[in-house]
Amino acid sequence: TSTDTSHDAGSRRHLREFLDEMRAENIRDHLRKFTRLPHLAGTEQNLQLAEQIKGEWLAYGLDSVEMVPYDVLLSYPNISQPNYISIVDELGNEMFNTSLSEPVPEGYENVSDIVPPYSAFSAQGQPVGDLVYVNYGRTEDFFQLEREMGINVTGKIVIVRYGNVFRGNKVKNAMLHGARGIIMFSDPADYCAPGVQPYPDGWNLPGGGAQRGNVLNLNGAGDPLTPGYPAKEYTYRYNLEEGVGLPKIPVHPIGYHDAIQLLKNMGGDIPPNNWKGALNVSYRIGPGFTDSFSTQKVRMNIHTNNQVTRIYNVIGRLRGAVEPGWRPRRSIVFASWDAEEFGLLGSTEWAEENAKVLQERAVAYINADSAIEGMYTLRIDCTPSLHTLVYDITKQVSSPEEGEEGLSLYESWHKRDNWTDDRDAPRISKLGSGSDFEAYFIRLGIAAGRARYTKNRVRGTLKNHSCFFISYPVYHSVYETFELVERFYDPSFRKLRAVAQVRGGLIFLLADSQLLPLDASQYAGSLTKYAHTIAQLGQKHPDALVKYGVSFDSLFSAVENFTVAARDFHERLTTLDRTDPIQIRMVNDQLMYLERAFVDPLGLPGRPFYRHVIFAPSSHNKYAGESFPGIYDALFDIERTANPKEAWDEVRRQISIAAFTVQAAAMTLTPPA
Ligand code: GLU
Ligand code: CA
Repeated sequence: TSTDTSHDAGSRRHLREFLDEMRAENIRDHLRKFTRLPHLAGTEQNLQLAEQIKGEWLAYGLDSVEMVPYDVLLSYPNISQPNYISIVDELGNEMFNTSLSEPVPEGYENVSDIVPPYSAFSAQGQPVGDLVYVNYGRTEDFFQLEREMGINVTGKIVIVRYGNVFRGNKVKNAMLHGARGIIMFSDPADYCAPGVQPYPDGWNLPGGGAQRGNVLNLNGAGDPLTPGYPAKEYTYRYNLEEGVGLPKIPVHPIGYHDAIQLLKNMGGDIPPNNWKGALNVSYRIGPGFTDSFSTQKVRMNIHTNNQVTRIYNVIGRLRGAVEPGWRPRRSIVFASWDAEEFGLLGSTEWAEENAKVLQERAVAYINADSAIEGMYTLRIDCTPSLHTLVYDITKQVSSPEEGEEGLSLYESWHKRDNWTDDRDAPRISKLGSGSDFEAYFIRLGIAAGRARYTKNRVRGTLKNHSCFFISYPVYHSVYETFELVERFYDPSFRKLRAVAQVRGGLIFLLADSQLLPLDASQYAGSLTKYAHTIAQLGQKHPDALVKYGVSFDSLFSAVENFTVAARDFHERLTTLDRTDPIQIRMVNDQLMYLERAFVDPLGLPGRPFYRHVIFAPSSHNKYAGESFPGIYDALFDIERTANPKEAWDEVRRQISIAAFTVQAAAMTLTPPA
């Protein structure tokens, strides 16, 4: 039956029905059901939810649903020896102890098994030392501390505030600089919005709340004991000492009530203004306490255990075929990933187990992690080839905002977050990491995207610099409840519905369009932008560029070739015989494999599972995306290198890898015959 127009018209009709049948009420019911009880990965409660998801997916009519188990390294507090931090006197007597748990919110008093705040995969130990305050614990904060303030943290316990970068990067920095332990606290400057009450009267973080989360530096490895291979029963496991990304020092999170007690008597210099948070303390950097308190020290008491534990992904399939009754043209795989919070473990193990099939057959991956982190507008992070599809689908979704009846989500999003410096369209960001798309996009080279509702980044940025990567105030605390969403974030559940419509709409058109809705020209535009950005970074060292013969010309020339190849490719598509299935399949293969072409099998330096040459998680912040990461890292802090010749040689090598990869990707867009 299918000429191009009849297929696509039918598909669009089905898309409309699909978007219109989504109900805010159903989303509310699902959220209620999944948030009633704690369900930490590896617990009985989480297995029960996985079984429930399986049952529901079968009832919804998927062709098959299976539970896929892996045995991965998880980490839990020791129930009989709680974690806490003390201020101790000369004799080791505890003068102050941090709280063992968060005050439980109303309605949850009888819930058992609430895991206390802890840093998953922390090393065990009871280090004693002087505190040093290092702001957010970022690379640049440690540089400033050592280079400008002349303070060395070797043997000290550092205390840093949460925010700005992934907590695992803070821990890595503390270790690298010789700290014996690290305490992370949530500062009201970053976790309390002005004019908003603490939960349950508002959505701010109460003083007793603390942020849980893993503190690994996996660099895409997945389960720390089985890098590269699925963590099945038969799989060889490294020893704990050899595990990937495990911190070697104790780590612990606290709330701001406890943080005041640790910070208030600190001595040493007053930090620069931008290191001051919003607590009523002076934020002195230490080391150690002042005056009459100078003999007191801080002791961490951490007894968290690593444990190989069984986890369960739920994998559902909808077979693609042209059959009576609607089916998508292509197959859709639905995955409910286990153990995301412990380092993206379920998703990465499944990617390892299915790598061969995925790299041959996967068109795209759409991520579904938390759907709302603010009340302002849509946030999209995706590969450049999905930009056009994202704009298309958001024009077909209604604005969820009060008083915007008749406006599309695109229009609502556009007026709130225009991409002013680059083009007149709503902002779309690069993918970073910190969620389950990582192995699919950055290791396997599958086109990927994510969607959620977000906060106003402009307002956040004016208040402080950490807005974009702090998520929302009660993130990973006991106050992150169903009621938080129902009372504050999305009482009508219409924002959540709009996000579901975007995610679902993307999947729908990727699965059902005759021609894959991927745009190589958008990729060309982004590559051009990234090439200019990285070249500008290099041009900060004009003398070195000359002295060591470093040039970005090869990269610009490859990007130019890619641009021409992409333009010609899309030009040919306009005259394609849409009734010839071979012709269709040929160009669809080229579109599907475009993202794959950016994979370097050798990976980035020291990060073998980060193999995408155009995008990687920043080496200084796993949440952030870095473009041309190989070149970026080679240039980083290069003015301080001990061996400039070697360092600039590495820059030249990375530029040539980037130029080669872009050129090779361009060749995949040329006519196959
Ligand atoms: N999404 C979790 C977090 O941000 C896990 C991220 C990760 O391990 O990459 O804490
Ligand atoms: Ca593995």
